[in-house]
Amino acid sequence: MINILDYNLSELKLWMKVNGEKEFRAKQVFDWIYNEAFEFEKMNNIPKSTKIKLEKAFYIGIPKVRRIYDSIDSATKKFLFEYADGNVIECVEMEYSYGNSICVSTQVGCKMGCKFCASTIGGMIRNLTSGEILAQILKVQSIVKKRISNVVLMGSGEPLDNYENVLKFLELSNAEYGLNIGQRHITLSTCGIVPKIYELADLNLQITLAISLHAPTDEERKSLMPIASKYSIEELISACNYYIEKTGKRITFEYSLVKGINDNENNARKLGNLLKGLLCHVNLIPVNSVTESEFQKPSNKTMDDFSNVLSLVGVNNTIRKEMGSDINAACGQLRKSFINSIEEGC
Ligand code: SAH
Repeated sequence: MINILDYNLSELKLWMKVNGEKEFRAKQVFDWIYNEAFEFEKMNNIPKSTKIKLEKAFYIGIPKVRRIYDSIDSATKKFLFEYADGNVIECVEMEYSYGNSICVSTQVGCKMGCKFCASTIGGMIRNLTSGEILAQILKVQSIVKKRISNVVLMGSGEPLDNYENVLKFLELSNAEYGLNIGQRHITLSTCGIVPKIYELADLNLQITLAISLHAPTDEERKSLMPIASKYSIEELISACNYYIEKTGKRITFEYSLVKGINDNENNARKLGNLLKGLLCHVNLIPVNSVTESEFQKPSNKTMDDFSNVLSLVGVNNTIRKEMGSDINAACGQLRKSFINSIEEGC
């Protein structure tokens, strides 16, 4: 059986045609699904005979809810979802004054091995399909009863390591018959898979590209992120320049500040020199301590000092306010603690 959420409109139209149905039924079926009717049975403008055919060929791959965690201020909710094969993933919904955002996972686990990240601890289990990524948004919207207007691909997984599925997810999110979320409201975060950044740039999309940089030199970056041994910072910045040239879009750099590792004035100065003059914005994020690692966040003063050094050389930056740290909202932490709790039998 096929997950119908993996189909786009032209594929479903073709399926209708091949199966002796009217093509316009495809749009009707998607209208139901994208308006949260997750059973063919409920689609009351679709003839019974068509529904029977659909039920034989497809399932609507909405995940089951395993847990929902609310942050104390209620502005952040974390969801643990289970797919049909039993794999669990997490996503986070955040309510801001400008709308509701969701942070989706793109893989079950991750193989990138970043030292501070919980998602990668058990390695990579499998890629998520476009429909499985999409289903996180559909399910969250149906629970919170609010439209999601912004998407960040910053949950578990490396989006550019699941390139084709992620591109199709972007298509479905953006499509008018789909979620109808503008590309400008979508951010894709990558640890920096350089050849894929070039490919993405050539598509000339209007999404925001976020690069997880976390260190200003190759040596320091290698100690935090194995991908740094594959692509140098120089290669990464060249790819970013190409992305900016092609798309005209400003790049976001993510820099998680880790006490005593990458947070001193010298690191800030080197980062400033590296990014000076580039069309970019730096998000400074206090590292979220993961139980399995010894990393600690710096003091507020250290973060302010770091930020000031960047500002002095003209590099735009913000210290990103932590949301949901009381509910393990950092990447991969919830899935990890959930799996641990099952293993511990509670
Ligand atoms: N693989 C992609 C997207 C997922 S991670 C990437 O690397 O960008 C999303 C962001 O959260 C990345 O910037 C990642 O480095 C950061 N991150 C992961 N664990 C973190 C932690 N414990 N504290 C702070 N940031 C973390």
